[in-house]
Amino acid sequence: MKRYVVKEVFYSLQGEGVRAGTPALFLRFAGCNQDCRKETHGFDCDTDFSGGEKLTLPEIVERMRGQSPSCPWIILTGGEPALQVDRDLIDGLHASGFKLAIETNGSIALPDGLDWITVSPKVPEPEVRQLKADEVKYVRACGQPIPEPVVEAEHKLISPAFDGHHLDPRTLQWCIELVRANPDWRLTVQLHKFLGIR
Ligand code: SF4
Repeated sequence: MKRYVVKEVFYSLQGEGVRAGTPALFLRFAGCNQDCRKETHGFDCDTDFSGGEKLTLPEIVERMRGQSPSCPWIILTGGEPALQVDRDLIDGLHASGFKLAIETNGSIALPDGLDWITVSPKVPEPEVRQLKADEVKYVRACGQPIPEPVVEAEHKLISPAFDGHHLDPRTLQWCIELVRANPDWRLTVQLHKFLGIR
């Protein structure tokens, strides 16, 4: 039976975007196809996606239900979840009663059937392959402009880059000014870091 390399599963609140504050199960896949660093992206990756455990679909469902017997939403994240998320996983989790949100860097086109797509581009616009989403979210460091997005999305979000768990006030002010100058965008912050939750 097929196995997926899973870094961790946990139950918490969605920390970002228009669904922030809603309870969700997190399914974090191991591995990523990018290497985000201050020098190249303006901020360092803050996620440990190394290692992981090889789990079958029934094992993933069991782990999820062990975290919460009733929460319907799973957030597929990483690392880069699009490296592993496939038709079998989507259909199997739907058949088990879950709704599926995904947080992707946009570099890989996703299979159909996901219930909520967040693209947070970490590659140059011409290299973005997932061109439709519910929300597009740019993490911005102080001084970084908003690119012309190639992703078509109802919600357009700016997220100030944290340094670990610290948010530099200059970065926050920069992002506030970006949104003030571009009124069809909105600010989102990593709520879980303010709350001290996962
Ligand atoms: S795409 Fe996301 S998970 Fe991958 S290195 Fe960049 S910030 Fe980290």
